[in-house]
Amino acid sequence: MSPAATPLAGKTVCLDPGHPSENGVGARGKRISEVRAAWLVALQTRDLLVADGAAVVLTKKTERELVTNRRRARIANEARADLMVRLHCDAASASGTSTYYPDRAGRSGGVRGPSRSVIERSAVLARRFHAAMMDRLQGALADRGVLPDTRTYIGGRQGALTGSIFSRVPVLLVEMAVLTDPRDDAFLASPSGRRRMALALRDGVRAALLEAGGSV
Ligand SMILES: [Zn+2]
Repeated sequence: MSPAATPLAGKTVCLDPGHPSENGVGARGKRISEVRAAWLVALQTRDLLVADGAAVVLTKKTERELVTNRRRARIANEARADLMVRLHCDAASASGTSTYYPDRAGRSGGVRGPSRSVIERSAVLARRFHAAMMDRLQGALADRGVLPDTRTYIGGRQGALTGSIFSRVPVLLVEMAVLTDPRDDAFLASPSGRRRMALALRDGVRAALLEAGGSV
């Protein structure tokens, strides 16, 4: 295939379907659970990124495998991923899609991180990623914006999310939808909605890892 057909050739992406972890099994909608939605979307996104020429590493082998967030970060580090994308769903009195990134170092398990360079790179990639993802999701899911880890419960206490603290590669976390919102829940429960989310994540990775003009 021509280079244009495989725009992500030479890139490595770590896809991290959230939960089960030390933080439990996550949110539950009436129609689909967070762990199920993240797993199914991760598999589809992997296939799309592989078709783009990327090497893709998943942090779990099966949907129900329990992996700590520290271990998930280490899998991305060992793969020397160009980007780690963590897939989650929210439970909140809101709806839509948000992207979180570390904007400062935090502390967990006696470790301080991530590094300044990871913070700077994550901030840049999160903005490019989120804008492209929301283009694809426009009209289906509301845009909740690009937010620092400190706006999450755990990130607010630690300074950054655990998966960010242990990451030595650029890292972002996508709250794909709010499963306590009936429309968001129905979106991710439907095969067409999950397909669109996978395409949106693929678009986001492309925008994050390919500089303007397609050069790398
Ligand atoms: Zn979660």
